Amino acid sequence: MSADNNSRVAIVTGGSRGIGRAVALTLAQQGWRVCLTYMSNEAAAHDTADHIRKLGSQAVVVKADIASQADCQRVFAQAHQAFGRLDALVNNAGVVGGQRSIFDADATHLREVFDANVLGLFYCASLAASAMSTQKGGQGGCIVNLSSVASRTGGMLLEAHYAASKGAVDSLTLALAKELAPHGIRVNAVRPGLIDTEIHEAHGGQETLKKLAPTVPMGRVGQAQEVADVVAFLCDKHSSYIDGALLDVSGGR
Ligand code: NAP
Repeated sequence: MSADNNSRVAIVTGGSRGIGRAVALTLAQQGWRVCLTYMSNEAAAHDTADHIRKLGSQAVVVKADIASQADCQRVFAQAHQAFGRLDALVNNAGVVGGQRSIFDADATHLREVFDANVLGLFYCASLAASAMSTQKGGQGGCIVNLSSVASRTGGMLLEAHYAASKGAVDSLTLALAKELAPHGIRVNAVRPGLIDTEIHEAHGGQETLKKLAPTVPMGRVGQAQEVADVVAFLCDKHSSYIDGALLDVSGGR
């Protein structure tokens, strides 16, 4: 489906690689225009944008550290300048933060993980709410947060920082669903299980995925596309009565 200047607009944070890239391409395929952000991998971000254009849609790329409120403000300003409307925010950018025992808990490390995985989502959700609220002149819309099944399982060993940050994402989702429903904004979270992306370089990459695949009830790791399809559904009118949901995409894990 090609996009025109009246087409819906989504901001996808961390749209350069992995799940974010799959989300950006899936939305573009469904006729959305996309503003995607990246942290450092410029080539991957522009490759995603090129693919979006080949699909007949429009893309804007913004380099931004999601942990910086000023960077988030710049993302929304550039998206507004390019497209003039906003219909969805996909809060996808996130980090594992490596492996670290609780015996080595460290403020700098914890702040890095929580700044990216939690505070960044607050900044972007606030900006999206201001742009989309029907009480502030907007058209309404939706926010989809990328959480993780780690929020309820405790995640992998030595990654308490990551699991706890995703627990905060779940709580934020539930709270914002209540606060923003009167503003015409639905807020949901998708909780992936083991998905084949580069994020697993934090703990052994493909080797770890291979080892853990048999522990998934479905017997395999998931693909980014399998998460992206659910995110796109939550952005769409076909999910118009789904709000405050924490949706596992985890092969039964
Ligand atoms: P990924 O392949 O590592 O990609 C991460 C993306 O986020 C990249 O686009 C990266 O940009 C961007 N990013 C990282 N830190 C950022 C920052 N501080 N500011 C802005 N952008 C930043 O990760 P993924 O596996 O697709 O994960 C996407 C989301 O799903 C994350 O929130 C993750 O926690 C969640 N999740 C993933 C899995 C899984 O198994 N893969 C499971 C559960 C939850 P650059 O390309 O520039 O580095």
